[in-house]
Amino acid sequence: MNKLDSAIVESSLRDAGCQFVDNAKDADIVLINTCSVRDHAEQRVMSHLGNLKHIKETRPDLVVGVIGCMAQRLGNELLKQSAVDIVCGPAQIAEIPRLITEAMQEKKKAVAVTEKIRQISPDVQSLERFEIEYSGDDTDIPAQAYVRAMHGCDKFCSYCVVPYVRGPETSRPPEAIIEQAKRLAQNGIKQITLLGQRINAYEYKAGDKTYCLADLLEMISKIDGVEWIKFVTSYPSKKYFKEIMLAMTELPKVCRYLHIPAQSGSDQILKVMNRGYTSAEYLELLDTARQIVPDIAIAGDFIVGFPGETDDDFSQTVDLVKKARYKNSFIFKYSPRPGTIADKRLKDNVPQEIKNQRNHELLRVQEEISRALAAEFTGQTVKVLVEGPSKKAKSTAEHAENAEKKQIITSADSVVSAVRGQLIGRTAGDWIAVFNGPENLAGQFANVKITRSTPLTLFGEIV
Ligand code: SAH
Ligand code: SF4
Repeated sequence: MNKLDSAIVESSLRDAGCQFVDNAKDADIVLINTCSVRDHAEQRVMSHLGNLKHIKETRPDLVVGVIGCMAQRLGNELLKQSAVDIVCGPAQIAEIPRLITEAMQEKKKAVAVTEKIRQISPDVQSLERFEIEYSGDDTDIPAQAYVRAMHGCDKFCSYCVVPYVRGPETSRPPEAIIEQAKRLAQNGIKQITLLGQRINAYEYKAGDKTYCLADLLEMISKIDGVEWIKFVTSYPSKKYFKEIMLAMTELPKVCRYLHIPAQSGSDQILKVMNRGYTSAEYLELLDTARQIVPDIAIAGDFIVGFPGETDDDFSQTVDLVKKARYKNSFIFKYSPRPGTIADKRLKDNVPQEIKNQRNHELLRVQEEISRALAAEFTGQTVKVLVEGPSKKAKSTAEHAENAEKKQIITSADSVVSAVRGQLIGRTAGDWIAVFNGPENLAGQFANVKITRSTPLTLFGEIV
């Protein structure tokens, strides 16, 4: 979601004549797009603001804006930070060019957030127009664009701030989504990723017809130029699940990838999290998915150290991870978010060391599964959408240049030779592949024969 907002704002500012620089020191305007999901992200924003305050001491004309969920959550309070001139929530991003102009010309601080975020913002239409106009022009990966299918969330998982900062759940009309996808395809976009906090709950009633995500996938499949369609994030619930899995197996453009967070393997914790399913029901959904789409790649999210999580609860999470055989999992340590039910009613009583231990333990378990699944690719040829130069290769190459060496050993995944021309791509199942090739392959599809792998990365050669 945040990446999409950044791309939209960036594109609108380019249109307004702004140029982008690499360093805040060289900028006249600095915008920080923020996330409130975890406290850590907010703390980083505060430390950025501290640095910007120093820059502003010598350059008082610098305009600093905080946009996104943290802006929505804190509103006026953020203006107390002396560096901050503009505070703008996710529903007001269309106003950013105007807010910047006013801040520059009139030197006044401004806040644009939705007062009652749980009521639909009256300005949804201008947001919609802004989004259609600017999305997809400046994504960080060539030939791929995000399209929002749903705004907000109504699920109120007890730990989660999203319903409070992104507002109520609404599905965009299918015509708007299709029109946007067509426009993107005409501009050379090959992969479209549909976004929603519970994308599988997409539902739009028009006359007698109710459109679900499976209908959207079918409609987008018909668009010439679109070759891959992905969607994130799925919420574990039965409604429409089979329909969506059938669409995945029947429609060749729909990537066989499902990101479906479980959050915990303990029924007791799931209940307090207000997730509305048991671990058995969750695993049943994965079985259904694999029955219908046998080669599906599944990814998960987990929160460790939720209030009251015992060793036994945690070991049930470990069991779930083993049973689920995810391609990868995103694992987070519980962080209390102001305003949420968990923060109001439950004590954050799992000590930090235990959270760290559980985090490491779960990562280790997942890593073994990922290692085994990745190894199965050795010898196979996979189709990837090339994203561009591998970041690690790039930084390693730069490093090598500085050190006047040609080979560098990286501590992370494995030994990577610092040869220029190392590219990164992603398979339909969201596996990252690294291989050598010319940079102008970015945004194209390539076939890569996999020769070796690490838990998160496949390595190979273009064939
Ligand atoms: N809508 C998605 C998740 C959005 S937030 C879903 O329901 O699956 C992305 C991830 O952040 C969540 O899946 C969860 O694992 C994590 N997360 C959310 N709130 C958190 C909190 N308070 N502490 C730690 N992790 C959190
Ligand atoms: Fe947050 Fe739950 Fe909504 Fe996901 S479904 S955004 S975790 S409230």
